[in-house]
Amino acid sequence: MKKYSKLLILPALLWVVGIGLTFFAGGCDRSPADNRSADIGTDESAHMEINTPGTSGGASETGSPSLSEQPPKAPAQTGDTLQPDKEPTPAPTEPPEVTKTPEPTEAPTPTPIAVNTDTSTITFLVNREYPLPEGFVPEELTTPDVRFPFSDTSIDKAKMTPEAGEALALMFDAAYNEAKLTLYGVSAYRSYSRQYTIYATNLATRGIAHTNRYSAAPGRSEHQTGLAIDISCASEGYGLETTFADTPEGIWVAENAHRFGFILRYPKDKEHITGYNYEPWHIRYVGCDLAGYLYETGLTLDEYYGVPSALTAEYLETTPLIDTTAESYLAIYRQYH
Ligand SMILES: [Zn+2]
Repeated sequence: MKKYSKLLILPALLWVVGIGLTFFAGGCDRSPADNRSADIGTDESAHMEINTPGTSGGASETGSPSLSEQPPKAPAQTGDTLQPDKEPTPAPTEPPEVTKTPEPTEAPTPTPIAVNTDTSTITFLVNREYPLPEGFVPEELTTPDVRFPFSDTSIDKAKMTPEAGEALALMFDAAYNEAKLTLYGVSAYRSYSRQYTIYATNLATRGIAHTNRYSAAPGRSEHQTGLAIDISCASEGYGLETTFADTPEGIWVAENAHRFGFILRYPKDKEHITGYNYEPWHIRYVGCDLAGYLYETGLTLDEYYGVPSALTAEYLETTPLIDTTAESYLAIYRQYH
């Protein structure tokens, strides 16, 4: 009997260890915060940001970290770079249920999910049609414990809400621990006034159509929520280009971000729904429940809430999303004309 008991102990131990590792590996499995249920709320603001005219794209390089050693978390690079941004998405707690009808005469109608605009949740919608409340500023912003391609991490764009920042750090750590990939945060929080300056500058220098295609209007950018961040890697020069999607880092993010509560907010081939070009670098924190659901279904946040692209292309080509007669806009316009 004793002999058999010993034989049973080893498999039992392995099973316990296995369970432990499973829980340790995924960001969503372990944090109570991740289990927050999705809320119902709506908000919108998609945004990309094209920054200052003249800059082209990315943060400067700081040197390439080797795969075998973790690079220091605050690499050098001071330059401000232009980058497109993307927005947050609300997440529902319970995946919608498909109701089975006894008689398959009619296709089941999915229950519409109310658009969540409650900014006290992590799943609220922000896009062009669902702007943030006027004057919205996240309750708390902190700098996540991750690498940035610039040295001063006290600036706005290095900040996120504590919950989103913690999830980001877990994700970046997992990318390194699981695949020896080093990710960098490039641009996170952006205030209304900063977004206003970016949008108004683009409007004054590039025209309405271009601006609305690439730049989120103030109050309509996910970056203003503190839940979104643009990320990149050394081989991309810390820039925000679609080529990030083809790097090992970009591929890993696309396949694993949902495990940590993040979604790729502006996916490829969904431009007609999100209203923004493909941005493989823009991720939005919505919590694990919703992120996992959207990953499995392939839905965008807009589709989840049933509000794809209400503003027509024609409208966006001709209509500025800020008051162009306002003194604040005219002051920017005069700088360029
Ligand atoms: Zn972005």
